[in-house]
Amino acid sequence: MRIRAHHLLCIQGFQGYGYSDVFIKHMATVIAQLHMNPEITLIDSLDEICEACPHNDGQRCTRYGESVVRMDHTVLEMIHASQGSSWQERDAIELTRARFETMEDVNRVCGTCQWREQCAFYMGIKRREEK
Ligand code: SF4
Repeated sequence: MRIRAHHLLCIQGFQGYGYSDVFIKHMATVIAQLHMNPEITLIDSLDEICEACPHNDGQRCTRYGESVVRMDHTVLEMIHASQGSSWQERDAIELTRARFETMEDVNRVCGTCQWREQCAFYMGIKRREEK
């Protein structure tokens, strides 16, 4: 399954919010498949999750443009992975948990995301740091 790198964070934080009902349902289905630990290929372009997104014009993300590609590149850099590399899903998830420990880390990718206050991954790190 092709997964854009920043979605490794989104899938850990997903709490049922998204761009449309169809998108939310599809994202929940993809996450359920990912829980079975399939092989994934990390990419910096439209992926399985983008498939059902209203901001996918078939070529690119029309909502975030190049900034979302930069988010993918930052995640790839932080987990020392290359674009197009293949992973077991669980290994990739564990790496992100190890490398995104502080608000400084997570804000490098999620600092301007509209969903961050509804994201279990982002808010989990925020609450841990506030203790
Ligand atoms: S907003 Fe852009 S990157 Fe996010 S799911 Fe939609 S098309 Fe993909």
